[in-house]
Amino acid sequence: MNFEELKLVPAIVQAVREQGYENPTPIQAEAIPAVLAGRDLLAGAQTGTGKTAAFTLPLLQRLSQGERATSQFGGIGIRALVLTPTRELAAQVEESVRTYGKHLPLTSTVIFGGVGMNPQINAMKKGVDILVATPGRLLDLQQQGRLDLSTVQILVLDEADRMLDMGFIHDVRKVLALLPDDKQSLLFSAT
Ligand code: AMP
Repeated sequence: MNFEELKLVPAIVQAVREQGYENPTPIQAEAIPAVLAGRDLLAGAQTGTGKTAAFTLPLLQRLSQGERATSQFGGIGIRALVLTPTRELAAQVEESVRTYGKHLPLTSTVIFGGVGMNPQINAMKKGVDILVATPGRLLDLQQQGRLDLSTVQILVLDEADRMLDMGFIHDVRKVLALLPDDKQSLLFSAT
């Protein structure tokens, strides 16, 4: 099994090759076709199994094949939202989105608490195709009227078990309520 057989487009296969990956990991071989087919996914995967690429690669492909959305602020509408429990993981996932998407015309940014809000507010005004965020700061921005999640097509809950352990269940519920019902949902959990 190689990445071409998973029906990934050349721009993504090239980015993956540049990382030195020869073959998909088991979670990638299973998740990528399902996500490309538009299915919801519930996957058990520990860190270190290649789970980030398992959702990022097909997510990038689906977005690259669709139309760009427009937000209520007139900027780029967010089409994919990735929620993570920690700022470290959020930053790491967004870095992967950039790495694997470097040959595609998609934009991304990361939002987490503990840092100034103004750059994040400006980023949301301009908009991005892919937003990676921790739930708390995301809701802060929403409550200030700075966030439009109505154009989200794909939701990823990364390390969902850890998110629940850390007491984010209410925040996650609130975020879910802001998303369209017909989105594709991908949930990754180590347990
Ligand atoms: P993750 O489970 O997403 O934290 O990924 C763990 C590590 O595996 C990361 O450093 C990735 O760069 C690497 N990785 C992801 N997919 C592959 C692959 N198909 N082949 C080799 N390494 C990979």
